[in-house]
Amino acid sequence: MSRILIIISCLFNFAFSTTNQDLIWNKGETLITFLINHNINKDVYFNLSKTDKELCTEIEAGIEYRLIKADNGAVLHALIPISEEMQIHIHYKKGQYVLDIIPVIYETKTELLTFKLTSSPYQDIVNFTKNKHLASEFIKAFHKSINFKKVHEGDVVALKYEQKVRMGRYYGSPVVLGAFVRPQHQDEKYVYQNPDDSLYYDEKGKSFSSVLFRVPVAYKRISSDFTYKRFHPVLKYYRAHLGTDLSASVGTKIVATSNGRISHFGVKGGYGNTIIINHDGGFKSLYGHLSRYNKQLRAGMSVKQGDLIGFVGSSGVSSGPHLHFGMYKNGRAMDPMKIVKSTKKVLSGITLQKYLKNANSIKKELEISLLKNGTPFKLDEIQIFSPIKK
Ligand SMILES: [Zn+2]
Repeated sequence: MSRILIIISCLFNFAFSTTNQDLIWNKGETLITFLINHNINKDVYFNLSKTDKELCTEIEAGIEYRLIKADNGAVLHALIPISEEMQIHIHYKKGQYVLDIIPVIYETKTELLTFKLTSSPYQDIVNFTKNKHLASEFIKAFHKSINFKKVHEGDVVALKYEQKVRMGRYYGSPVVLGAFVRPQHQDEKYVYQNPDDSLYYDEKGKSFSSVLFRVPVAYKRISSDFTYKRFHPVLKYYRAHLGTDLSASVGTKIVATSNGRISHFGVKGGYGNTIIINHDGGFKSLYGHLSRYNKQLRAGMSVKQGDLIGFVGSSGVSSGPHLHFGMYKNGRAMDPMKIVKSTKKVLSGITLQKYLKNANSIKKELEISLLKNGTPFKLDEIQIFSPIKK
């Protein structure tokens, strides 16, 4: 089946040996094909709730997953990431297989990095942190508001960022919380991420991003909200719904939430007939359970915001006609309704006040760090590892 990347180790005990395998999830592979290939009873999938069946559809081709096998080749454990924070855990227990959704254990490090340029901001950040994803997120955050070709040696760069670390490796997507560039011969530029919508704004609360999103359907009501890694206190189980269900009659028109390029056009597991559109700034939108597609479209084509892409239906795992609307940034599922609400180019009211308070405290931290020359954390052995394919 899959290509074997690394056989990490063989653990021995008195009864039998087990083998750990880190593998890559193939394109076209589904949880069902995985279960069939490994002689695991398909009921572990069919017995799941509708929401968990949808979650199992979130496995992305290209992600790394782990198998722990007995010496006879039988799977004892399978750990398959479905997001940066959750994974499917299939394990053999008392003569049968069990499927759980469990959290991925990682640490989040928040760091300040301030320095005077020696080459380019991108290259200097890579040199300091060995983290290319962080360097490109820093450049993206400014969204062309600064010409990085016109910054020079000696100009000041400061950033506050978050990076997940798992088993001694960078994990998932870094988040730039705030940053500034202070060139010697140009105005300084600030950028801060608004925690509410993950978009970047300047120090006055004006959006840098040209990527703005709209609600893709005239819906009757929200039948299921977005929830991320919610622990069920009674069932002791993690539940999540990585999108918003917008109920509407069969055949209601669905439009593209923003300009972009279609990256998926066809059936996608529990989501049924599905369209995925990639947008600028690392955003991706997903439309599930369609009854029909706009037949003029196919994968690879560009669409504009408001273009008809398909019609509401109930295909896949669905109890009634609705659109499952998902939004992702750098592969991380976001609350779609928060993102579509932020279609204003300038923050105002309480949102602005909250944003400015947060921005000012980050600015202060960066100024203090600059005086002390704050340096970032470095891992001894650095490998970029992400469960989410870029
Ligand atoms: Zn849904």
